Amino acid sequence: SAMKIGFIGLGNMGGPMAANLAKAGHEVSGFDVAGVEIDGVTSVETGPAAAEGADVVITMLPNGSILRAVADTVIPAMKPGAVLLDCSTVDVDSARAVAQQAKAANLGALDAPVSGGIGGAAGGTLTFMVGGNDEAFAIAKPLFDIMGQKAVHCGEAGNGQAAKICNNMVLGVTMIATCEAFALADKLGLSREAMFDVVSTSSGYSWSMNAYCPAPGVGPTSPADNGYLPGFAAELMLKDLRLSQQAAEAADADTPMGEEATALYARFVEDEDGLGQDFSAMLLRFEKRGRG
Ligand code: NAD
Repeated sequence: SAMKIGFIGLGNMGGPMAANLAKAGHEVSGFDVAGVEIDGVTSVETGPAAAEGADVVITMLPNGSILRAVADTVIPAMKPGAVLLDCSTVDVDSARAVAQQAKAANLGALDAPVSGGIGGAAGGTLTFMVGGNDEAFAIAKPLFDIMGQKAVHCGEAGNGQAAKICNNMVLGVTMIATCEAFALADKLGLSREAMFDVVSTSSGYSWSMNAYCPAPGVGPTSPADNGYLPGFAAELMLKDLRLSQQAAEAADADTPMGEEATALYARFVEDEDGLGQDFSAMLLRFEKRGRG
């Protein structure tokens, strides 16, 4: 049955997600500081106004400090038993702090970061990685089914963010490994087709090689075939890698490859020409360089 939903943060991801919920027949009130208008979504002037009377309040915001600030104003405006559903990618500590605050106000809370990018948001094919209790998960499940194709319940509060950053740490590392191997193969005189055909069917295979090949002209169509337009922007990969290292530090986990991937993406985005390019454009940087 139709739910009343408050949606806060109507950017590249939140905008189409809110539009899909409205299209499915839910009553959606939306707020964004930038004053965005979304088809089918009633625009309101503040976060608390979007939260008022809502069964579920969804947030899709840039980072953990903004999420904490928004939660401070929105939680007191929510009705008891309602669920605060954060879909942003934020640090594990912020996710757990906000969930604690919601619980203290007799609310349900879920952290549910997504993968699938803006295409997945528009097409309703996101994957949600969800932390929080069973009761809140059950309330949000019909909304996950509209906005996405899969929702994995990963355990208690913060575990969705933990799953997301661990996955993206693997992705950052394998993308770099795939790019540096292509650059080495080029210098050894191997064709890209041969390289792809061997690695994609051998023990070096990964999503980075097989599904999102960083070399143009080989493998399935990927951002490499479109001038490295994102796709998944290098600066967003850097954001997720930094969150992984923040979490690793807090948990005293040894993640040397994650640390190296973070340093390489930081250089690529901040000192080289990675900003605005797809994260697989890392191949171009290796092509340009020697060992020195
Ligand atoms: P975005 O910058 O396009 O959208 C964020 C929106 O939040 C903006 O419209 C901004 O005006 C609004 N906002 C900022 N502060 C606010 C406040 N205090 N109150 C209300 N609105 C506020 O970013 P995005 O690409 O939509 O990403 C949102 C989140 O999703 C991020 O955490 C990002 O890491 C994550 N994410 C993005 C992608 C992607 O491909 N873009 C993929 C997976 C996850």
